[in-house]
Amino acid sequence: MHYDFFAPPQIHFGWDRFQEAGTLAASLGSRALIISGSRSLETNGVLDELKSLLSRAGISSEHIRTISHEPEVTDVDQVTNILQHHTQGAGDFLIGIGGGSGIDLAKACAAMITNRESETVLDYLEGVGQGLQLKAKPLPLMAIPTTAGTGSEATKNAVISSYAPTFKKSLRSPEMIPDIILCDPKLACSVPPEITARTGMDAITQLLESYISCRAQPIPQALSLQGLKLAIPALPQAVADGNSRTGRESMAHAALLSGIALANSGLGMAHGVAPALGTHCRIPHGLACAVMLPSTLKANRSVCEMQYAEIARHLDPGLSLSDADAADSLIQQIEALNASIGIPATLSELGVTSEQIPTLVADSRGNSMRGNPREISDDELTGILQDLL
Ligand code: NAD
Repeated sequence: MHYDFFAPPQIHFGWDRFQEAGTLAASLGSRALIISGSRSLETNGVLDELKSLLSRAGISSEHIRTISHEPEVTDVDQVTNILQHHTQGAGDFLIGIGGGSGIDLAKACAAMITNRESETVLDYLEGVGQGLQLKAKPLPLMAIPTTAGTGSEATKNAVISSYAPTFKKSLRSPEMIPDIILCDPKLACSVPPEITARTGMDAITQLLESYISCRAQPIPQALSLQGLKLAIPALPQAVADGNSRTGRESMAHAALLSGIALANSGLGMAHGVAPALGTHCRIPHGLACAVMLPSTLKANRSVCEMQYAEIARHLDPGLSLSDADAADSLIQQIEALNASIGIPATLSELGVTSEQIPTLVADSRGNSMRGNPREISDDELTGILQDLL
């Protein structure tokens, strides 16, 4: 056995623990610059509460930006510029509060503000620009997730989009794992059912893809089993009743585990195609992953039967089926889960057309696809996407 394992340095998890935001943040500095990922957090009073919790802990704060879309190169560059004008030196730190979009923007800006070899994040993204590396440590960062999906609070990358030219790529460095994660599942109670469904399926996709990835590691696999056992029954609960404490707690924990798992083990075909579906077809990330997940499981079934059977037996210890039947039962369970929470079964329901397929195939060859347990040729991927129309 041979592996490396990266884990977030501090995780504080629990219902209503948002109340500890000020005391926890005090170890990071004396002045918080806040990036938020949702207007709802402004209207429902969460941002004001954050500022008052910080103030009670002796921390001054400034709300820098709310982002209500998946972050783009221009967002990172603009917000980094704004931050440069607002930082005062020692004692400054960032708080990213929101879904993956807000947390990724905060992670990217925390890194860009201390790494000024180029003024644009483009030059630091994987596979585009100048290929610069992050050398300086990012500004300290506290991540407060408010969706249960991406696990971005626990990963070492930030996903950044561009529409001219079109790409969705990662800024990545082990130093980008947030210093403190404060995960209060109650904060997700205001997430509407449709967003709960698609973000939750992102977490489930991450747990499954990291388990079967060609870079799969033993510690993340153990975390994935725990996450899947919690998330598969909890997601329909959280979708049906946004205030379900069990539903929200299980999903928030599963999403956090999915982040740790993907940061160590990589992902696969569903996450390989999702960025292209995001940029070319404007499909939200979690929804793209959810629709791609059953086909991904089917495409990898020939090399992953044992792993699927292990997962199926973990989910139902009483299952007395052959490996082949247990593997099939896992795929059927995921299809039934998608259907039960309103995830479309086809890409055409999301507006994807056959003319877009060559571009989608060409733009699906990023880091995630390289984690897929078997090579998927362009021809095979074309066929898989055509079958999904
Ligand atoms: P999101 O952050 O875009 O949020 C989805 C929607 O939910 C937004 O409209 C937002 O305003 C709303 N929202 C967020 N919190 C809310 C709350 N508490 N109440 C009400 N509404 C709320 O969606 P996401 O799926 O969490 O993040 C997607 C982004 O994360 C994509 O860009 C994706 O590529 C990226 N991602 C990053 C990683 C990583 O490791 N860094 C991993 C997976 C995905």
